[in-house]
Amino acid sequence: MWRANEKGVMEFAHGKEAWSLAEQAALACTCFVPDVEEEQVAGEERSCYDCRYRRWSVESFTCLGVPALQAAG
Ligand code: SF4
Repeated sequence: MWRANEKGVMEFAHGKEAWSLAEQAALACTCFVPDVEEEQVAGEERSCYDCRYRRWSVESFTCLGVPALQAAG
């Protein structure tokens, strides 16, 4: 579900419109924090796309919230 980008930061491997996978990832994550409402884009109650720790990238987003993910490389 994740890949390391060129800076070694974990990037979601499925782009910006994988609504179901982004929901699954957020449901499995204990670090989810909802972003402010105007930054939310997903219809799901919980989604990485709506998490305060996601940072949009050109193709997808990176996650700043899960140290274990970063360590897993
Ligand atoms: S911390 Fe990262 S993996 Fe967890 S819900 Fe937020 S964006 Fe997704």
